[in-house]
Amino acid sequence: MSTTTALKPMTEHSAAEIERVKDWINSEDYKEKNFAREALVINPAHACQPLGAQLVAHGFAGSLPFVHGSQGCASYFRSTFSRHFREPAAATSDAMTEDGAVFGGQNNLFEGLENAYALYRPSIMPIFTTCMPEVIGDDLTAFTRNAKQKGHIPEDLPTPYANTPSFNGTHIHGYDAMLKAILEYLADGKKTDGNDNGKLYLIPGFDGNTANLREYKRYLQMMGVPCTLLADISEVFDSPCDGTYRLYAGGTPLDEAADAVNARATISLMKYCTPNTLKWLEGNSVGTSIDLPLPMGIRNTDAFLMKVSELFDMPIPAELKAERGRAVDAMTDAHQYLHGKKFAVAGDPDYLLGIVTFLLEMGAIPYHILCSRSTKKFRKEMEALLATSPLYGALGTVYINKDLWHMRSLCMTDPVDAIIGDTHCKWVARDAKIPLFRVGFPIIDRVNLHRTPVIGYQGAINLLTMMVNKFLDTVDETCEDQWFEMMR
Ligand code: SF4
Repeated sequence: MSTTTALKPMTEHSAAEIERVKDWINSEDYKEKNFAREALVINPAHACQPLGAQLVAHGFAGSLPFVHGSQGCASYFRSTFSRHFREPAAATSDAMTEDGAVFGGQNNLFEGLENAYALYRPSIMPIFTTCMPEVIGDDLTAFTRNAKQKGHIPEDLPTPYANTPSFNGTHIHGYDAMLKAILEYLADGKKTDGNDNGKLYLIPGFDGNTANLREYKRYLQMMGVPCTLLADISEVFDSPCDGTYRLYAGGTPLDEAADAVNARATISLMKYCTPNTLKWLEGNSVGTSIDLPLPMGIRNTDAFLMKVSELFDMPIPAELKAERGRAVDAMTDAHQYLHGKKFAVAGDPDYLLGIVTFLLEMGAIPYHILCSRSTKKFRKEMEALLATSPLYGALGTVYINKDLWHMRSLCMTDPVDAIIGDTHCKWVARDAKIPLFRVGFPIIDRVNLHRTPVIGYQGAINLLTMMVNKFLDTVDETCEDQWFEMMR
């Protein structure tokens, strides 16, 4: 005898009730309730601390990032990088489970380090933590020392480590912690007595755009300034397909990283990603350590190149001046299509400052500006930037520690023409029926955007081309017949 069991829905709603709620979540009344929300985050525009640490760890030659913690977390980091870059993200984990959570993760670390070293022979294994070992208080100083004393890995294998609890920070904090740890470890005892090595050390910050990094190197080569890019992921995550798989493609050479303390100058282009690293460099290196805004748009790119020119007493070459002129020309040609358009923008603090600078240069209105984990300092800096433009910037509002569900309420109640951000913004864009211009990390639903620079003069041209052409496509697709024109 067979019996069939009918599934009973937990709750039943009439079609009319579903329609009523669908409308209500677009209302001012709902927005007010949404903004009163305190104990729940919905679709945040950030990732977790160890993911930022892993990006840095990938950026050194021969490096095998090592996740001390849960396998699930490690899979999330690796799959996010693989989806964004469409490349393998070679990293390993000691896969702590319940027994590790109860007795501590030292045995996992011993076994994990030993196996990873035996199998993959890395030149450096940067270690960083997920939430679980942070909650139970694993002591990485003692664990890594014990691992070497007990012979699980060679004494001379560099094993810098960073504590990266994700309940207390985001990917940009993990980036900072891991970069500082690697530099501290490699540069130990390498500082010379006041003689700098004549080089510029550039810290790009958490940037999933490999073409941006190549663009920095191209600029400095054109200027004849010797440079080392720290945490250089440009080859690691954008290596050629030539039939040979390279486990360790590219990355900053370890001896160059170790010499960072003897740089003539170090520039961080994302100061919110590098506060502790810069502070450490200021106190421990021979040369100058400064931060500059991410070079998006003309003004920020000029500031970067002029600072490098001043620090190294090298002129800006004619080729670069011509590139600048072409970008200004392209921006002038396309100005009328972006002028007065309202934008919602979500992302990391440094990227947001760069994007807003660019939008203001184009006469667009950065209207809803949302950073899902940031500080009052960032808000103040963004508000000061907006205030430089009484006509366009003054119309913008900055939201910190809000998520993309808040952004949805903003865009449904106070509409904009487009949103700029990573792939997570696509739900807002769909509901608000506006285009999403994908800038930031991760971008996992379009191809090759990480191979298209958005910094520098070419980046300005790329951004405005993407935006203006999309707006013009929409006009062509939606206009009435009598307004369908050959020329736009
Ligand atoms: S928030 Fe913590 S538990 Fe969740 S994926 Fe990140 S590290 Fe793992």
